[in-house]
Amino acid sequence: MPEGDTIHKLAARLRPALVGSTLDRFDAPRLTGSPPAVGSEITAVDAVGKHLLIAFADGTTLETHLRMTGSWHLYRTGERWRKPAHLARVVLGCGETIAVCFSAPVVRSHRDDGRRSLAHLGPDLCGPATDDTLIDEVLERLVQVAEPGTALAEVLLDQRIASGIGNVYANDLCWIHRLHPATPIEGVDTDTRRQLYATAATLLRANLSTQRRTTVPGGLAVYGRARRPCRRCGTPIRSGRVGLNARATWWCPRCQPEHR
Ligand SMILES: [Zn+2]
Repeated sequence: MPEGDTIHKLAARLRPALVGSTLDRFDAPRLTGSPPAVGSEITAVDAVGKHLLIAFADGTTLETHLRMTGSWHLYRTGERWRKPAHLARVVLGCGETIAVCFSAPVVRSHRDDGRRSLAHLGPDLCGPATDDTLIDEVLERLVQVAEPGTALAEVLLDQRIASGIGNVYANDLCWIHRLHPATPIEGVDTDTRRQLYATAATLLRANLSTQRRTTVPGGLAVYGRARRPCRRCGTPIRSGRVGLNARATWWCPRCQPEHR
């Protein structure tokens, strides 16, 4: 699943190419909802959590969620696509520019700005300002949504609590705060919860302007680093499956001892 920062960077790339231009072609073979009218102007491209929203002047908002497989490409008219046409889920033509979304599992349209339909999402940690009030809301949602025994890594990934954290950040946040990813959330006190989400917001926003995602100096802390030495203590990083969703997870057995 892409991290929230990926979708924000994507929106920043698509925005100048699309906003202000007029839709002259729209194909979306598996669209749920009604298509925007050809001839409508594109008025906004936004990321909300991991959802990309494209708004049209006729009141339609197109939502795509890329999950693991989806991607958006920009082409000039006549340019060869880098993926096969049968994988195209959305084709937006605007004059000389063609934006193509490949393999997205979710392609929906809304007759509002789309945000109302995404109201179940927790605050977006990639947003411009992350203050105490926003973290307060996150912690309140956590209490409402998470069962006390839920693994910390799974809570961090729950987009109903806060949106934007994917598996890279969930794993690295646990390492940064020296917590085993399987720690039941009831064993994590409020101060620590607050620090975890504050760190998440700082890292997500710091990575909006970088080419390569880093969570610690030099790269990632534990994500994808099985058997390589812990950046703090040198112990080989362990990997396994954690939580009800059995997500791939990495941790340092010494810095992040299992919760007892
Ligand atoms: Zn370590």
